[in-house]
Amino acid sequence: MAKKAPWDGGIVWSTTPDGQPWIGTAVEGEGCDLFWPCIDHPTGRPHLVDEHVTVPKPLVAVGNGVAMGVDEKDGMRTYHWRGHDVSTYGISLNIAPYRELSGTYTSRFGNTYPMHYWYVDDDARAKVLFAEFPKMLDFLESAIGPYPFAAEKMGVVETPYKGMEHQTVNAYGNQYAKTPYGYDDLLQHELAHEWFGNQVTNANWDDMWIHEAFATYMQPLYAESIGGKQAYFASLMRIRAGLVNEHPIVSGKPRREEDVYEPERGGPGQDIYGKGAMMLHTLRMTIGDDAFYRSARLLVYGTEHPVPGNFAPRYGSTREFIDIVDKVTGKDMRWFFNVYLYQAALPDLQVTRDGQVLHLAWSVPGKGPFPLPVDVRIDDRVVTLPMTDGKGEVSLPANATYTVDPDSKLLKRDAGIDAYKDYVESKKKSKAG
Ligand SMILES: [Zn+2]
Repeated sequence: MAKKAPWDGGIVWSTTPDGQPWIGTAVEGEGCDLFWPCIDHPTGRPHLVDEHVTVPKPLVAVGNGVAMGVDEKDGMRTYHWRGHDVSTYGISLNIAPYRELSGTYTSRFGNTYPMHYWYVDDDARAKVLFAEFPKMLDFLESAIGPYPFAAEKMGVVETPYKGMEHQTVNAYGNQYAKTPYGYDDLLQHELAHEWFGNQVTNANWDDMWIHEAFATYMQPLYAESIGGKQAYFASLMRIRAGLVNEHPIVSGKPRREEDVYEPERGGPGQDIYGKGAMMLHTLRMTIGDDAFYRSARLLVYGTEHPVPGNFAPRYGSTREFIDIVDKVTGKDMRWFFNVYLYQAALPDLQVTRDGQVLHLAWSVPGKGPFPLPVDVRIDDRVVTLPMTDGKGEVSLPANATYTVDPDSKLLKRDAGIDAYKDYVESKKKSKAG
């Protein structure tokens, strides 16, 4: 029995609003071995999975991969599903008196594949959510590449818990919550995991930011694609204000999933989502869109030119991603990742005004090199300081006003956000006291 799925996972025994059985599984943390015999390690994904689930009528069992038929006998139904190369924690049971919406997606890559949504009630809101599927696929296919499981299906199933990236049968339990961004951010996040998590899977849980940072960064990018810059930067600001920066995102050693999630065990916890996403924003601003998306594509597919049929699920690691970025940019970018992924504290840009000169200097944890260029606005012009040795200066006429990083390209320590977080923390304490 799951205590608080999907975070404390297991089997979720619930009921639909009209009192019928509603059963799901969510075992990312606890492991697939909770309900089927498996090798509970990211590299243990089985090549072929056959699922046979027997339920009393009128319950429906929705599984991974392709529907292989239903047998009915004595008021019982046995559902057969078959999936290929399914990620270990992506295998799930989903049982309820489901209703179904389905359609066909026509991809820019020339193929078509089925879209399905299994839901428990509320036909009207289900239709609205289903109408979001092709728009999200348009974005992810154009930004990253082909939907990885087009040979099976793009599937979503309503669950009695919040969500989980179950391969080809994504768990959705967001209860149709609305955001000011005009789309369902939980659905978009889980769908992004089909690329980041299920197509490219972390070789070790220590590399888990590959799943969560990319899947999180897809929300501001999608928000921008449908709502413009305001939506992009508003999403980023919400993410930025939540960073913790107490433990590095990557340890460089093999870790268990719970070691990553729990700060008490030295894990980065939620920073694999938010700080990872902010790191990716900074990377994109630094190396440019072309190099960024080429690098992401190589990580996801192992090729820059993915088309349906020329790739299969693969494993990725932090080390590999850094090598990819080095290769694509033709530069040694280790200094960038050494600070953002392997150090806890954020880089700190120290800015001092000395008469008519503005001095900038990076101060980074680990004391390594950090030649991250910085834009400075001086009155109505913007100059880019290369910061080659971590330092830079620019002349500042008397009475000139200036903004450091006017286009918000860089993740760095921010005194305003630190003060805000202290304030929120003190409010919490005074309430608790
Ligand atoms: Zn996620």
